[in-house]
Amino acid sequence: MPLSEFEIIQHYFERQGLTRPEVLTGIGDDAAVLRPPADRELVIAIDTLVAGVHFPENTPAEDIGWKVLAVNLSDLAAMGAEPAWFTLALTMPTASQHWLEAFSRGLFELAQQHRIALVGGDTTHGALTISVQIAGYLPPGKAILRKGASAGDLVYLTGTIGDAAVALSLLLGELKAEVPQKAELLRRLNRPQPRVAEGQAIRELAHCAIDISDGLWADIEHMLAASGVGARIELSRLPLSAGVERLLTSRPSLWRTILGGGDDYELCFCISPENRNSLEQLAQQQGFRFTCIGSITAEPGLTCVDTGGQPLSMAVSGYQHFKKDEE
Ligand code: ADP
Ligand code: MG
Repeated sequence: MPLSEFEIIQHYFERQGLTRPEVLTGIGDDAAVLRPPADRELVIAIDTLVAGVHFPENTPAEDIGWKVLAVNLSDLAAMGAEPAWFTLALTMPTASQHWLEAFSRGLFELAQQHRIALVGGDTTHGALTISVQIAGYLPPGKAILRKGASAGDLVYLTGTIGDAAVALSLLLGELKAEVPQKAELLRRLNRPQPRVAEGQAIRELAHCAIDISDGLWADIEHMLAASGVGARIELSRLPLSAGVERLLTSRPSLWRTILGGGDDYELCFCISPENRNSLEQLAQQQGFRFTCIGSITAEPGLTCVDTGGQPLSMAVSGYQHFKKDEE
């Protein structure tokens, strides 16, 4: 028996998830009624995943549920915000109970981890497309923006870079290689861990931050453009996982995928050199992985130097939905 729209909402979305005191009316009315704390700024982001564009059609539903929330949490993390609640617009070709069960399991697993509440949404019939809008809080004036880097600042990255793009290449058969860490790489693609704790922890130290969703190269450039500065990044310093490291030894061209590929959801941020010790202490206390990958220059432009100190000459660009030459 196919489920009605009402049954889908009630069974898979309304009954699950947690409540929070600021949610006065959640799912079930025409709109949600919320009372954010009076002493906080509200931070809002929205991101959409389209089947075949943002994930391969055969991606497990549980992973899609996780990922659509993770990509939004990552945007709040980059602002230094504390996530609080979200809405979900779900468009799907069929109302498969099996699919909905798995999708909602992945979604609520991550929602529980971050103690955020689903407060409303929309359910429609069409090609598989999922949007999450997320909201969170910040103490007044404390948002970490893309602008704010100045010459001499150190550039840092959380986690490791390139895993998701390499995993996607393996999955699509573009990269043919056996690597013992394949499962770990695929997990990085399908189950990204948004750096929410890191984002809040660096709020007092970071001059600027961005989350790496469209590729390190492209996203650093966004941060540099917003700040009106340049950067010199050292390839040898980039934090790589064991799997990527291993593949790279026999395939130097993989740098292109690592720098240009998206879906990492790590944070890139800048601090002044005086704060280096404080940041490293923070990392040690909290168990965060922060790696210094280079520094900010007064002259604009991104330079990436290889192990011999030579600037990298290959053209790399991040993911863009509407490329100029396709218009
Ligand atoms: P309306 O037609 O008035 O917009 P809907 O039937 O779309 O109402 O939604 C009914 C209730 O269910 C609303 O509270 C809405 O926020 C919620 N809702 C609908 N779809 C979802 C979903 N996918 N996830 C969470 N809540 C949803
Ligand atoms: Mg509606």
